[in-house]
Amino acid sequence: MDVSILLNKQRAFFRTEKTKDYHFRLEALEKLRAAVIRHEEDLLQALKADLNKSEFDAYSTEIGIILSEIRFAMKHLRAWMKPAKVKTPLTHFGSKSAVYSEPYGVSLIISPWNFPFQLAVAPLIGAIAAGNCVVLKPSELTPRTSEVLENLISETFPEPYVAVVQGGVEVSQELLGAKWDYIFFTGSVPVGRIVAQAAANHMTPVTLELGGKSPCIVHEDANLGLAAKRIAWGKFMNAGQTCIAPDYLYVHESVKMDFLAQLQKAIRNLYGEMPLENELYTHIVSEKHFRRLASFLENGVTYVGGKTDPGRLVIEPTVLTEVRWEDPVMKEEIFGPILPVLEYRYLSEMLEGIRNHPNPLALYVFTENPGIQQEVMNRVSFGGGCINDTLYHFTSPYLPFGGVGNSGLGSYHGKGSFDTFSHKKSVLKQTTLYDIPVRYPNTKNALKMI
Ligand code: NAD
Repeated sequence: MDVSILLNKQRAFFRTEKTKDYHFRLEALEKLRAAVIRHEEDLLQALKADLNKSEFDAYSTEIGIILSEIRFAMKHLRAWMKPAKVKTPLTHFGSKSAVYSEPYGVSLIISPWNFPFQLAVAPLIGAIAAGNCVVLKPSELTPRTSEVLENLISETFPEPYVAVVQGGVEVSQELLGAKWDYIFFTGSVPVGRIVAQAAANHMTPVTLELGGKSPCIVHEDANLGLAAKRIAWGKFMNAGQTCIAPDYLYVHESVKMDFLAQLQKAIRNLYGEMPLENELYTHIVSEKHFRRLASFLENGVTYVGGKTDPGRLVIEPTVLTEVRWEDPVMKEEIFGPILPVLEYRYLSEMLEGIRNHPNPLALYVFTENPGIQQEVMNRVSFGGGCINDTLYHFTSPYLPFGGVGNSGLGSYHGKGSFDTFSHKKSVLKQTTLYDIPVRYPNTKNALKMI
């Protein structure tokens, strides 16, 4: 692959202006939708081979989300593309104002392995809707899914419009060396930093969808049974390899033991008595990731799980108690099926503890008290989250999804994706019927001042 040849081809195609046409974009989205449906079986098999994702998980968290994002974009595309009329101040009497959404041009999307289909295609939908050409680099750690993605895209779109480039770090770095009109990156914080630096070299605008340690708070007045069910689901889905999974729990000391008992029950209900033998349980992506996670099992006291199968790269859904901030498991994003539990007595101190760490990508709080819900929202800065649930905010096209500070920059989903890949061009249309003289310097007075 020669990056500059591909980039030049895409630039030339973008200059034909074809991608700016409403019908062209709509048709492209329809073609993408048809291709996803056509390749559904290949995708299910690839996701099984790469991560042992069950059909239910693969459909509900990858394919289904993409199909509904495409439907949403197709339904609203015409309205999104219209220049948005805005007010004009009295001082600009006689003129009108509008904000035009124009495509940036040629965009680069780099995606991770944990939801290897969804996290590659969701930004692509926004880029197409906004009228861009796209080069997409999926993760090298999920090769079967990346291969299906490449086939699906190459048989649907010409290379000068949308192309998939496969490869690892070197390919990614070669791509990042080129001058793009927009870069959309999903992945880890350290690589996000590399991407931001590469983008800065060319003054390229960038979206960074990163990670971090997302707290989950269970207050003393929470509905413990429901909280346990929703936390177990959000944490152990995809074996915890979810950027917005609850990373660690903060449980009020007065309900800790009751809650842990409910959590244990919820985990059993979801994965059975012997999760290592559950055929529907997702594997860890690689041996390297498995070893890193297995080392965390030495932290704290194992309350649930703790067993592993290195041969099949599986780790039981695990809950660790007696954990301290100084332990390795609390020092970095876990990104696996291990849930450390901290306890707190005073809300204020606990929130201070969270605020002393980098802004999380997500935060979840379980409480029936609206005052406490509000206090948590006001005091902690985080990307997005839920009150009395986990992960669910991610799937609403009306909620822009993204991080803040260390957990990312910018957001997408629904109209947010269209806006992310569009430059907002503000235009004032002036009247020529008359002219207001006060704007011009009075030559006579100006001369007097000299
Ligand atoms: P990663 O940063 O290692 O890799 C992401 C992509 O960057 C891959 O395509 C990879 O090939 C490329 N890459 C890796 N190293 C590179 C380098 N040195 N230079 C240039 N490119 C490089 O991330 P990952 O392990 O694939 O994914 C896990 C991370 O992603 C976690 O931190 C997780 O929280 C985060 N994540 C965030 C979101 C989100 O939406 N915010 C979603 C999923 C995952």
